[in-house]
Amino acid sequence: MTGSEEYDVVIVGAGFSGLYAIHRIRRLGLSLRCFEAGDGVGGTWYWNRYPGARVDIESMQYSYSFDEGLQQEWKWPEYFSPQADLEAYANHVADRFGLREHIEFETRVNRLRFDEAENRWHIAAENGRTATAKYIVAACGSLDATNVPAFPGLDTFRGQWFHTSKWPKDGVPFEGKRVGLIGTGSTGIQAVPVIAKTAEHLTVFQRTPAYSLPAYNRATDPEYEQAWKANYQDRRTAMFGNFAASYMENEQYRSVFDYTPEERLRILEEAWAARNGLLFMRTFSDIGTSLEANTVVAEFVRDKIRGLVKDPAVAEMLCPKTYPIGAKRICMDTGYFEAYNRDNVKLVDVRANPIAEITPTGLRTTTGEYDLDIIVFATGFDAVTGSMTRMNVTGLGGRDLRDKWTDGPTTYLGFLVAGFPNLFMIHGPGSPGVLAQMITAGEWQVDFVAGLIADMEAAGRHRIDTAPEWERRWNLEVEEAAGHTLYNKADSWYVGANIPGKPRVFMIYIGGFDRYKQRCTEQVTNGYEGFVFDAPIGASR
Ligand code: NAP
Repeated sequence: MTGSEEYDVVIVGAGFSGLYAIHRIRRLGLSLRCFEAGDGVGGTWYWNRYPGARVDIESMQYSYSFDEGLQQEWKWPEYFSPQADLEAYANHVADRFGLREHIEFETRVNRLRFDEAENRWHIAAENGRTATAKYIVAACGSLDATNVPAFPGLDTFRGQWFHTSKWPKDGVPFEGKRVGLIGTGSTGIQAVPVIAKTAEHLTVFQRTPAYSLPAYNRATDPEYEQAWKANYQDRRTAMFGNFAASYMENEQYRSVFDYTPEERLRILEEAWAARNGLLFMRTFSDIGTSLEANTVVAEFVRDKIRGLVKDPAVAEMLCPKTYPIGAKRICMDTGYFEAYNRDNVKLVDVRANPIAEITPTGLRTTTGEYDLDIIVFATGFDAVTGSMTRMNVTGLGGRDLRDKWTDGPTTYLGFLVAGFPNLFMIHGPGSPGVLAQMITAGEWQVDFVAGLIADMEAAGRHRIDTAPEWERRWNLEVEEAAGHTLYNKADSWYVGANIPGKPRVFMIYIGGFDRYKQRCTEQVTNGYEGFVFDAPIGASR
């Protein structure tokens, strides 16, 4: 379809939040269109089809809550679903709820311009498609804009190279190939053991070692599934009131210092063996706030790594020592450390000896040359802000969003940016984003935005905005919440440290999803405090 159609709402992205936004906003009786860059639905779970890609939150809860029939009928074969199962689920939802007819695929939005005389957004996509809309719902993902470091010589490489999040649909055969993999974050640690199984040789280029816990993925136990399905409503209600939008049972949650060293060890051993992954990080209440408490847990994990890796020198290289556990996103793996016991896997420290260039035949560090047939970039994302800034967004006075965010992103409640009216971000900077379970938190944010749009329409308003003063106040709340934690003590993508030149700002609201919900809701019920409309709007909710 071509031409500049007019819509009430344009949704950018048909990932999990975008799909739900179609379903929810359609019920307001407004005209809408969704533009999606890929040729299918699923967002993160459409793009990230690298070997080993798998969610690290149990699928019974990492799934939609909005339809009881859907959650009762859908079967998750494994606790932690692989990419293919999550993509199949997204397709099922798109078909079951008739969402596909609203989506235009292979339509990557690359221009969003607000026309202040019309109070409408003008949308343009790479394929020439144009449209206008009163409202934009930007559901374009926190981890979408890929980061391929600017190593000199990449264009001269005669082999194949891939970024993990733009993986070919037909897969990549590794048989008989010398593979180099750069990056040991969540993605790299999932890909390494799988690639190692088929590649002739795998060289892993590690700059910073990762803390990783065993995922203990397994086939879904029927009793466990039944317990969820019998209690779905109650558990979802608990998730919507939880700080991480997650369901948690049997929380011990006391300080490390309430226990003797022997008791701590017993608790950590039990948690390690408990087959519940991320709950390990909630063994004690002060892991995220006290460096001393954190060190107890970090040392326990380092000892586990030393036990898993046979070569002591390699084990030491794999032990994270420069930042607290949890200050970077904790990883969950299936046989990652054990992969280094294989004869065909080699670990190279590119912190000590950085990558100097990609050559026609491989890769050169400051001390060594490596012949490679395939290079895998597991080098992450221009996270949280990248998908917005790469869309070339201009607001009032023609101001570019990139200029506005030169010193770091500013938002009001993680949704609105002052001077960019009628634009709502889902999982935007200043929202709980990746620190809450993203499907559930996304559903709540979409509901909140749908409520704002409904209020606007009922009141006959044309413009919703915020003011820099309210962004400043919200940014202070975001900073204060992070200030109590150890999150600022690592060079992570949470603070933009992985992208050269990106301002170092903690971009996520860590005060808890429950508190965040409360803050958003009370601002609306307090007469829309902090929102700026083209004419006053009564407090209807
Ligand atoms: P990431 O956490 O940013 O890791 C990127 C890796 O590439 C890091 O080890 C980084 O080293 C390395 N790197 C980047 N630039 C480099 C350079 N110039 N030279 C050498 N090494 C370089 O990215 P990710 O692993 O894709 O994960 C991103 C996020 O996606 C995760 O934190 C998680 O939220 C999500 N994710 C989730 C799952 C899951 O649910 N199971 C799986 C995958 C990803 P430094 O650490 O030194 O910067």
